[in-house]
Amino acid sequence: MSDHADPVSLAILTSGGDAPGMNPVVRAVVRTALHVGARPFAIREGWRGAIDNLIEPMVWSDVSSILDKGGTVIGSARSTEFREREGMRTVAANLVRAGIDRLVVIGGDGSLTGADTLRERWTGLLDELVESGEIEADVAARHPELHIAGVVGSIDNDMVGTDMTVGTNSALCRIIDAIDALTSTAASHQRVFVVEVMGRRCGYLALMGAMAGGADDVIIPELPPEDGWEDAMCEKIRAGRAAGRRDSIIVVAEGCMDRHGEKITAQRIQAAIKERTGESPRITALGHVQRGGTPSAYDRWMSTLLGYTAALEVIRAEPGEESCIIGIRNNRLQRLPLVETVANTKKVIDYLEEGDYEAAVRSRGTSFSRIKSLFETLSSPLGEDRYFKDGWRPRVAILHAGGLAPGMNAAARSAVRLGLDRGFEMLGVEGGFPGLIRGDIRPLAWGDVDGWVSLGGAELGTARSVLGIEDYFGLARSIEANGLDAIIMIGGLAGYETAWNMAKEADRYTAFRLPLICVPASIDNNLPGHDLSIGVDTALNTNVETIDKIRRSASASRRCFVVETMGRKCGYLALMSALSTGAEQVYLHETGVDLALLTKEAERMNRAFDGSRSLYLAIRNEDASKYYTADLLRRVFQQEGHGAFSVRSTIIGHQQQGGIPTSYDRTLAVSLAALAIDEVTAQLEKKERVGARYIGQHNGKLESHPIMRIDEEMDMKDRVPLDPWWISALPVLYTVAAREDTTPLEHLAIYDDNR
Ligand code: ADP
Repeated sequence: MSDHADPVSLAILTSGGDAPGMNPVVRAVVRTALHVGARPFAIREGWRGAIDNLIEPMVWSDVSSILDKGGTVIGSARSTEFREREGMRTVAANLVRAGIDRLVVIGGDGSLTGADTLRERWTGLLDELVESGEIEADVAARHPELHIAGVVGSIDNDMVGTDMTVGTNSALCRIIDAIDALTSTAASHQRVFVVEVMGRRCGYLALMGAMAGGADDVIIPELPPEDGWEDAMCEKIRAGRAAGRRDSIIVVAEGCMDRHGEKITAQRIQAAIKERTGESPRITALGHVQRGGTPSAYDRWMSTLLGYTAALEVIRAEPGEESCIIGIRNNRLQRLPLVETVANTKKVIDYLEEGDYEAAVRSRGTSFSRIKSLFETLSSPLGEDRYFKDGWRPRVAILHAGGLAPGMNAAARSAVRLGLDRGFEMLGVEGGFPGLIRGDIRPLAWGDVDGWVSLGGAELGTARSVLGIEDYFGLARSIEANGLDAIIMIGGLAGYETAWNMAKEADRYTAFRLPLICVPASIDNNLPGHDLSIGVDTALNTNVETIDKIRRSASASRRCFVVETMGRKCGYLALMSALSTGAEQVYLHETGVDLALLTKEAERMNRAFDGSRSLYLAIRNEDASKYYTADLLRRVFQQEGHGAFSVRSTIIGHQQQGGIPTSYDRTLAVSLAALAIDEVTAQLEKKERVGARYIGQHNGKLESHPIMRIDEEMDMKDRVPLDPWWISALPVLYTVAAREDTTPLEHLAIYDDNR
């Protein structure tokens, strides 16, 4: 079915440096185009291939099984010829002969600039081609304009105006794996490691890597260190050791300079440390490992949404429209003007050359500056005890509640260090709210939480129970006996419910009027006021790894897999697992499961296996339906397959809760812990205790809400948010997976058109 009278043709190319996640974009563009009746082409080998006419029509199966492949299957290359007008003339001729006047370009600022220049010159080039007789006038007349939608593919995350670029998240995963590995060997020998990461002009990878890896220090291109940085660095290493650190990691981006324009290389850092401490740090340059490998879950699902959106943009482009880039702001997709966005990105180089470092850092966005300053606080050991005010050190307890979520330790560590920095006395409660009643509380010093950033599980333990009426007396007594001034609860809905219950009883128990801040950490992603809770990215990556293996196991036989994920009644984890692994179907509580659906599914399965298909993957959320269990689905499909294929069901289980936190979950943990400390500070400063609140990041805003509002945002019976923002991605799953019952496509609800 087409949105247009004539089928339109569009081409996709990947250009410049490759990045994990380019393939999911290619797959989504091709399949979205096919879905709406457009004709997709691939231009192989980037702009060079456009000159050499490596333009091929794509069919559905051309992009099968590429979701998990690193790099780009359609090839990328650099081309000096394309920079010249003559090269672009050849490209225009090749495109117009193939009937193509719409392009989705995945690349960095160079590739995207080239694309827009081609668009600008398009009419002139076609006139020339007609004049010289190389193309017919009526052919040119059918393609009066070139339409461009760009997707930024760059592991460096160096495009100003978009929060993330394709490949960055995967590169960070590689960096974190490496830093974790180095940390353990560094700790064994009390050694210093200097880790060089990519990012010639952008310190994103270095800063986030250092933050998530719990490094001692970081140097980034946007902020050349002030003179004397070598002494400051060595002092920081010494202070860290004194505070109990065994490992010391320094992260440096490859393109760093000092304030005199001299390069700061890993070797220079090594020499500086050796000269001052006598220790000889080891250097590890991570190099191209960062660029390679399978895309992370984020670089699969988000890239799929980007490809879908970019394809719809060029297919529906109106005459006279400027080129656009599909970017990401606060987990929403956004249409950005290409020329302006690239120009803003280039300005960063000018700022650095002019020495305007503040402007360079500012260009990277507010969260970049915030993370930089949080990193400084978290990595600097405290010299002496601080006081909040007038010799007062408020006693702030940290505890967990609900199921385990990877990143709980990272959040607790950050809260402890940031709290100590504010002049709080930080206390760890063992075993959640029941532990608090028992009085299982211990002080936590700066060094006590060293190494927690990378630990899975919860060092403080957690408890799933929701406290009720019989517990209030003991709870109030313990809060008073331990002199608690505030509590930070890092956990899931059980913790929120206890906080809610306490707020409702605050008239009777004055002890419950203390600031109690709920920080969202749950792999179910079912918490109010927050888009993505701590732990869910790790759980998703665990599922992706597991399902990739399941897929491969089936490659030799005709098999259907029904894979069950966690998430209770909230379908986020199931849907994103499905989008990230190329599943055909997902069963969610939100959309329901009934017999009619299963009948249709079995018919579709039979048709699929009649063809060339050897695998059919369906993901089931654990509480999608009370009666249609994974095993029941297996038996239904087995019966209805009549021996044409076999069916297996797999329940992924608790490994989803037990993963090593991803970089995303670690940095999110830091950011939310900082917000929690700010909330506590604000309430203690005002002396006006507004009591329990939950915090989070919604639509990019860091916010806090009174816990009494929870039932306005949550369906507390089913324990799911009333407005699951992510559900709008469901039609994208059906567009890129082989579904026959197609519907007209709409842009995502999380897409800001900005026109
Ligand atoms: P990236 O796209 O990752 O920034 P490059 O800067 O190497 O990588 O660009 C990739 C290709 O895009 C170049 O080889 C060239 O063909 C094309 N290109 C880059 N800059 C321009 C430009 N200013 N004008 C035309 N084409 C360009």
